[in-house]
Amino acid sequence: MSILAYTPIRDGQFTKLTYELLSYGRALADQLSTELVALSLGKTEEDQLKTLAEYGADKILHSNDDRFEQLDNRAFSKAISQAAEKNEANIVLMANDFTGKALAPATGVHLKAGVVSGVIGLPESTDPFVVKKKVFTGKAFARIQVKGERKIFTLETNSYEITQTSKEAAIETFEPQLDEGDFTTKIIEEDKQTDKILLTDADIVVSGGRGMKGPEHWQPLEELAEVLGAATACSRPVSDEKWRPEEEHVGQTGKIIAPNLYFALGISGAIQHVAGVSGSKTIVAVNNDPEAPIFEVANYGIVGDLKEVLPNLIEAAKAA
Ligand code: FAD
Repeated sequence: MSILAYTPIRDGQFTKLTYELLSYGRALADQLSTELVALSLGKTEEDQLKTLAEYGADKILHSNDDRFEQLDNRAFSKAISQAAEKNEANIVLMANDFTGKALAPATGVHLKAGVVSGVIGLPESTDPFVVKKKVFTGKAFARIQVKGERKIFTLETNSYEITQTSKEAAIETFEPQLDEGDFTTKIIEEDKQTDKILLTDADIVVSGGRGMKGPEHWQPLEELAEVLGAATACSRPVSDEKWRPEEEHVGQTGKIIAPNLYFALGISGAIQHVAGVSGSKTIVAVNNDPEAPIFEVANYGIVGDLKEVLPNLIEAAKAA
């Protein structure tokens, strides 16, 4: 038996979420006294692949096939299933990001596996196999028993501490058996924001809500983010109004993030927003309404008008 962790490549690199997944996989493999195998599909350099061992992989499988440049549910899930079968992996791990959310159910069908998404922490017990996840937008926990021999878990993003090891691992070429009919979709256009810090990877996030009063007032927020080396985010009405791009929307229906520091600027703190950011280590809120619910979850709160507070924050960040 082994554990297979699917480690996606983004622009030739691995992201923080991949290293988080491997750190989790390492701890789970130790708990079950088994081997952790990392699987990557698509083009990347050997140096990058070697980093997978530094975060816990015992073995690295890699397919350099050009056709893996774009995510295709059918082809990728088939390839992951074949790798799991070849390595007798009874547990397959993926990050609970858009890739994992898309691939876990499809892979579950191929492997006839029990699938649990958004798992947090190591299993409470392994016989029976019980995992935990947040439910009701983080207000409660569910403990789920996974029956059956094969299991697939997606790990909630930013929920497990990254640990580096001094391991090395062999890199093996993996050639899945796929034909052209397995590649069913083709992305014809992608609007990439390559110069930006990836929201789900960021240590600091500066986020704006309707209190920012319109897209024309976003420049100071972006300046604060730039000074702090932070990613930018927003509440749902802001992306609905097209003040900011949809990929910045955080919350129940957007991205779930857990940075070390989250700035909520002009955000009321509705339950659906907080559901996406409550995992942040420290929340700083700026709002002119002292009764705004965001202050109930914030570690630091500033009651004031953003027009005055934001320039001061920028100056303070520059001076720090
Ligand atoms: P508002 O609620 O309008 O708050 C604006 C805040 O700015 C106020 O607190 C105000 O006091 C403050 N403010 C105004 N002017 C200033 C100023 N000059 N200086 C300082 N502060 C100022 N929302 C999400 O964000 N993410 C989600 O994923 C999400 N999913 C949802 C799913 C469902 C099913 C539903 C029903 C709703 C969802 N929502 C989500 C919407 C959510 O309920 C709130 O409506 C939304 O989060 C409010 O956004 P906001 O805080 O930007 O705006």
